[in-house]
Amino acid sequence: MSRPDEPIGFGDTDLEHGETVLEVDGLTKHFAADSGLFAGVNFDPDRFPPVSFGVDRVEAVDDVSLEIEMGETLGLVGESGCGKSTLGRTILRLIDPTDGTIRFKGEDLSEMSDEQLRRKRSEIQMIFQDPQSSLDPRMKIGQIIEEPMRAHGMFDDEGREARAKELLEKVGLDPRHYNRHPHAFSGGQRQRINLARALSVDPDFVVCDEPVSALDVSIQAQVMNTMEELQEEFGLTYLFIAHDLSVIRYISDRVAVMYLGHIVEVAEKEELFENPKHPYTKALLESIPVPDPRESGVRGVLEGEVPSPQNPPSGCRFRTRCPQLIAPDEYDLTDEEWAHTRAFMRAVKRRTFEPMPATEIRREFFGGDLPRGEAGEIVADAVELVASDREGGNSSEAGDTDADRDGWTDAADLLLESFAERSICARERPAYDLESELGTETHFAACHLHR
Ligand code: SF4
Repeated sequence: MSRPDEPIGFGDTDLEHGETVLEVDGLTKHFAADSGLFAGVNFDPDRFPPVSFGVDRVEAVDDVSLEIEMGETLGLVGESGCGKSTLGRTILRLIDPTDGTIRFKGEDLSEMSDEQLRRKRSEIQMIFQDPQSSLDPRMKIGQIIEEPMRAHGMFDDEGREARAKELLEKVGLDPRHYNRHPHAFSGGQRQRINLARALSVDPDFVVCDEPVSALDVSIQAQVMNTMEELQEEFGLTYLFIAHDLSVIRYISDRVAVMYLGHIVEVAEKEELFENPKHPYTKALLESIPVPDPRESGVRGVLEGEVPSPQNPPSGCRFRTRCPQLIAPDEYDLTDEEWAHTRAFMRAVKRRTFEPMPATEIRREFFGGDLPRGEAGEIVADAVELVASDREGGNSSEAGDTDADRDGWTDAADLLLESFAERSICARERPAYDLESELGTETHFAACHLHR
């Protein structure tokens, strides 16, 4: 064969637009926490013996399930380090899953041998963030685009060249530049070369890992427009990974929001942006920079640090930062009492106020009136602990040794054990399918507020 038999974009897939092309079920990827000389050796001076052995796990992706339909773009968004790139790579089996299944067109990729996978890779491709480092500077762009075709034994030399040139044109580059090296191209053009390379083997599904993050904003839209045109022409399906919500909003049909290894919300784009149901999604949307220079740079800021994926919170992983943590059932608190208690608990845990007498703490956080009943007694004890510490309490953090403990630490532990740890948010992992208000598909929200 001297030329490809069919025009580019022939879309010879056996699935119809809208049918499920990828089904991920319970996908999990845990890594060993470290791999150095003392990997697996834990030292705890409070224990006897103080040295123990056992490998800590980083739960990068934990029990993720989702479906992607033929021809759609599913945007995957979350803060950096939330596991979205690991999820993309695990779906492609570039890294092996710890558990779960990945069904692509009905076949389980997680069970495939290396050789079976190698053959499947013509149908599943990936585009990476950095167009500079993913192109070999010594190769001409024609060779770069032809490389995957050669690996899959597609066409002869002449056919590959013809296809490479046609693809260059499709991605908006001049086919006469076939013999140029990558350094002759701008960042945006290099990402177009990456696109042409990925499409050369006629894939059905492309995982795009932050493909426009390294580009200027003005170039981003151009590259995304080209990706959309190619999607239509080639019948492509994209999993589009990005941390930038405006990019996700531009390109996605549906959006999945990821936090600390879990998918916390999935909905059609308009539904997700206009009617978010998960407090994390709401916080992310509120922290989009405001274009009006008279306003402050960001509207809402997520409180607290992202917990370590080595030791993620039980139940809902967002609960240590969630502004809407649900009250434990046993205390019968009013909404106002719980709002005050929750704010006080957070402030004690993070030590966000100056030491002060008990009456001032009560006034500052509770308007003078503590909650009624047992909850009020617990809060009163915590107030006293913090107040008693104002004469020179040390600045140790929660979790320090007994010698370092102070009133703040004891108060934080008391409040967390009595309230946060007893909340349904700590006890059960949430997963709810909701009616979509603005779309037609199910709106998934992993939050107990929607029980
Ligand atoms: S389940 Fe609880 S902690 Fe998690 S997002 Fe919902 S309200 Fe917040």
